[in-house]
Amino acid sequence: MSVTVAPLTHAGQRARYILVLLRDLTESERINQMRSDFVANASHELRTPLASLRGFIETLQFSAKDDAGARERFLKVMAEQAARMTRLIDQLLSLSRAEMNVHVAPSNLIDLNDVIDHVRDATEPLAEEHKAELRLKRFESPALVRGDHDELVQVLQNLVTNALKYGAEKGAVRIEGAYRPAQGRGFGRYAIAVIDEGKGIPSDHLPRLTERFYRVDVAYSRERGGTGLGLAIVKHIMNRHRGELTISSKPDEGSAFTVIFEAVEKPQDSAAPSQAAE
Ligand code: ADP
Repeated sequence: MSVTVAPLTHAGQRARYILVLLRDLTESERINQMRSDFVANASHELRTPLASLRGFIETLQFSAKDDAGARERFLKVMAEQAARMTRLIDQLLSLSRAEMNVHVAPSNLIDLNDVIDHVRDATEPLAEEHKAELRLKRFESPALVRGDHDELVQVLQNLVTNALKYGAEKGAVRIEGAYRPAQGRGFGRYAIAVIDEGKGIPSDHLPRLTERFYRVDVAYSRERGGTGLGLAIVKHIMNRHRGELTISSKPDEGSAFTVIFEAVEKPQDSAAPSQAAE
């Protein structure tokens, strides 16, 4: 709390009033703290692969110089660490772009079915790697919303990638589009749910999942190439689109991440709307 006291005078007369300004600094202190936590986290995340790269370079320069087998193994790990740093920097840039533009809602006309198709094609190789099946339920007719195609692809891709990373061991990953008719005014909403049957998330972690660098299990996330920024990016892009993100999950049963958008018109076959994905 900061207190400022100033006498209010007029043309040299004696002050009849005193201005007392009380400022609550809790919020600005909280923001400053968040900022410095973020910088500390980002530096730590970048330093870890960098330290490992430097270690391997030294080993290659000295002890493993003449061992072809070791050289090959080390170079493979070094390539993985470099890829990790690239992924982290790309995600930091995405996050800062989404945060910077949060006040400007993107206005292109986008068909969510195109977004689903794009993400299916992009994540198919990862699904094969995890021996998982991607099961798609597209919207029955074009699902038009206002938005930015690349950002919406990024939202869905982050959710599907997570479902494959944390959820694929036990079954398929479902991507389901569903129209939710309007309760009052408006044209209703479109929901895309990404559902897995994987390890799930204990309920006490759910409220913090979209915080930057928050992970339920840091080692497990790192092992799977996670950066802890995927859901923070999803949240910011959804805010920018004036959309909603809901998360429901049960440990050992699986998770459902649902993104919801305002429709810009009624779907062509809205006489028989499909069931909303929950
Ligand atoms: P990461 O890059 O670590 O995956 P995210 O921000 O995308 O970061 O996710 C944050 C954390 O939420 C993950 O580290 C993981 O613990 C948890 N998580 C996200 N999606 C799932 C999922 N489908 N199933 C289980 N846990 C998940």
